Amino acid sequence: MTAPLSPSQELTRRLRDGLDRICVVMRADQWAIAGAVGLNPTQTHVLTFITGRGEKGVRVGAIATQLGVAQPTATDSIASLVRKGFLTKAPDPEDTRAVTVRVTRVGRDIVRGIGLAITATERALETLSIREQTELLRLVIKTIRALQVAGAIAPQRMCVTCGYFRPNAHEDKRAPHHCAYVDAAFGAEGLRIDCDEHEALPEADREAVWISYMKAFSDSEEDARDVTR
Ligand code: SF4
Repeated sequence: MTAPLSPSQELTRRLRDGLDRICVVMRADQWAIAGAVGLNPTQTHVLTFITGRGEKGVRVGAIATQLGVAQPTATDSIASLVRKGFLTKAPDPEDTRAVTVRVTRVGRDIVRGIGLAITATERALETLSIREQTELLRLVIKTIRALQVAGAIAPQRMCVTCGYFRPNAHEDKRAPHHCAYVDAAFGAEGLRIDCDEHEALPEADREAVWISYMKAFSDSEEDARDVTR
């Protein structure tokens, strides 16, 4: 007989069920947006990710890792996007045996159009107050980081894992954080989940930066460490 769930496990299960319902709508959103420009959601993710890398170009392996898809899936999506004229391939200047992929002007226009589309999920999120959205952003970041720590997803380009991030560097409660890349203060609502300028923190500094960020929300350093356990 299966042991009954504890109250906290039941709460976790209800949250998972709720997120699952939201994911159903998000997947429908993704299909609708991708379908409108003749793509599928994976192709849309690949195109958006490569566009975010600007002129640098990206290797196929890095695309597959970052998006959490198998390399053959990434290869098929890239081949299709190249045929449509949205991407180009060129030898990697640092290793001529490797190939990098770049976005074309047409591909960039497509991504701009996708970014302008307002989804059902966004309309629902807009019903939350700014304060609620900011709190939800914090919780989403914490959950994504926990998934990263567990090795369940590839490292994401978030402020909390960025070498330019200086958490709680300022007294101003409306803008306590600092981005050393643009040398500017910003508030909790400005935390990025996917930033093009992200520079991964060295492994040795990750926990210290996380604890420094979480201190503002924790009663103790112990609480701040919770997610790294
Ligand atoms: S460079 Fe981007 S990810 Fe890094 S701290 Fe600045 S805004 Fe955040």
